[in-house]
Amino acid sequence: MDELRELIGQTRAHMRRQQLMGVERLHVAWPERLVRLSEPSLTLAHVRQTLGECTRCKLHQGRKTIVFGVGDPKAWLTFVGEAPGADEDQQGEPFVGKAGQLLTRIIEAMKLTREQVYICNIIKCRPPGNRNPEPDEIAACEPFLIAQLQAIKPKLICALGTFAAQTLLRTKEPISKLRGRFHSYQGIPILPTFHPAYLLRNPHEKKTVWEDMKLLQREYEKLPKAQT
Ligand code: SF4
Repeated sequence: MDELRELIGQTRAHMRRQQLMGVERLHVAWPERLVRLSEPSLTLAHVRQTLGECTRCKLHQGRKTIVFGVGDPKAWLTFVGEAPGADEDQQGEPFVGKAGQLLTRIIEAMKLTREQVYICNIIKCRPPGNRNPEPDEIAACEPFLIAQLQAIKPKLICALGTFAAQTLLRTKEPISKLRGRFHSYQGIPILPTFHPAYLLRNPHEKKTVWEDMKLLQREYEKLPKAQT
């Protein structure tokens, strides 16, 4: 626990130094020591405990609840969204509003349940007015996403929406160019697709997302665990 706490502190200090040097986009390396910690000793419970009642960035001021993540702590498929909205802030669970209900239907269309996957966000506290998270907020919060992914060890990641895809892939490419094919996040295949909230505003894109989900489902079904 102390080692994890120290690592996260070191990561945050490094990212702050990068910001002070004028780095606009923060690139988080997969910390070597965290990789070692990713062996059985690192669990989601450890990561959550280390996060605590976090005040590491200004978003803590307006939040009701820290929205850490939900699902199977050893899921082979993890969905990563952007940040909690109002419903999520109230209930403390990611993707529970209208967009979340759509995500649940998408997961079920893949013949899975929310309990079989893991769902989380880049940022754990609701940004005011649902604005995009700011670089200092990402710098403060992203080490915990990294630690979550190290604890879960997913075989596949689905990035939901522009913000999650651009943050995880360290790119400014639009989601329209990123979606529809697998990329790599620290060696893990990652498929970006449109955010369910975008689909609610643009229902004509549902077919596009379904094409992406078929790709994801195909890869999931190739995994040894999915065949048992
Ligand atoms: S967004 Fe993340 S870093 Fe900021 S206060 Fe919430 S949990 Fe802490």
